[in-house]
Amino acid sequence: MHGFDSLMGQETLVQRLQQAIISGRVAHAYLITGALGSGKKTLAMAFAQALFCNVQPGSACGTCRDCRRIEAGNHPDVIIIEPDAGKIKIDQVRRLKEQFALQAYEGSWKVGIVVGAETMTVEAANSLLKLLEEPSGRAVIMLLSSSPSMLLPTIVSRCQRIAMKRIPRQLIASFLEREYGLSPERAAVVAGLADGRLGRAKELAKEENLVRMDQVLSALASKERRGLEALRLAAQLDAEPEAVEFTLQILTVWLRDMLLLSSGCSPDMIVYQNRYEELLEQCKLYSPSAIIQAIWQVEDAARALKANAYRHLTLDALFYQLADLNSSSRASEVYKYGKSSGS
Ligand SMILES: [Zn+2]
Repeated sequence: MHGFDSLMGQETLVQRLQQAIISGRVAHAYLITGALGSGKKTLAMAFAQALFCNVQPGSACGTCRDCRRIEAGNHPDVIIIEPDAGKIKIDQVRRLKEQFALQAYEGSWKVGIVVGAETMTVEAANSLLKLLEEPSGRAVIMLLSSSPSMLLPTIVSRCQRIAMKRIPRQLIASFLEREYGLSPERAAVVAGLADGRLGRAKELAKEENLVRMDQVLSALASKERRGLEALRLAAQLDAEPEAVEFTLQILTVWLRDMLLLSSGCSPDMIVYQNRYEELLEQCKLYSPSAIIQAIWQVEDAARALKANAYRHLTLDALFYQLADLNSSSRASEVYKYGKSSGS
């Protein structure tokens, strides 16, 4: 699959962009928004291919010289800027401007793709703003952002907005079964964790992530406290921050599933349907308010880790709180009953 065809579930956005090309109404600037792994860059690259491809104008053949060079990231008229050490700096925007000022020598378009546009420094953003204020002929700038609220309003107001759609869980699951050969059970779990994002689903379908997923779920499903303890140690020893983040995400979804079941939702609403029995078993141990509290604790810890909190301490505190939930949950039951019997 190549070009627009690889954008499953984004058909309305693709049609809109194709229509713009066919009718000669391509905007000078687009702001493509969506969570990490939702396909923003795939859409921008496919759009660039569709602009340049002469074999299938308005679409992309995937095999001509233009299509291949764009795909490989070395087309002279398609300039891609990505954050450098977490920031997009003014020098990068300047280079983009220089390129735009040059006469296009291959194809007739100039395309600039700014990945992680919200990381632009103030100087970079102001420099880019000038470029947006003086649009020239056949030039398009595509800003990609997962946090568009961090962009200057003056920049946003000059862009046509394109919001990536969340793809239904079932659609992602059947894609994973078909294209990655996952079993229906596993595909359903990965699709649930991907939360509407195809790129994220593809990432999670990699072998090392599947192995981790199984390990974390076995630890969570374990009846013994040792499960949680093993999880804490594994997370602390892991060298990859993303892997720890993933562990906490698996944990959050586990708790959400418990909450759904304990509030009487139908089992087919949960993500870990392959762990239904164990989830149900654990629901009996915790009150819904304790589960909500646990979800907050995990989300707080995830946020703290993202903000570079000391990992050992944060995870120690989190797992201590989680291990303690059971007893505190029961204590609150006792308190409740004690109160009602007294009145
Ligand atoms: Zn082509």
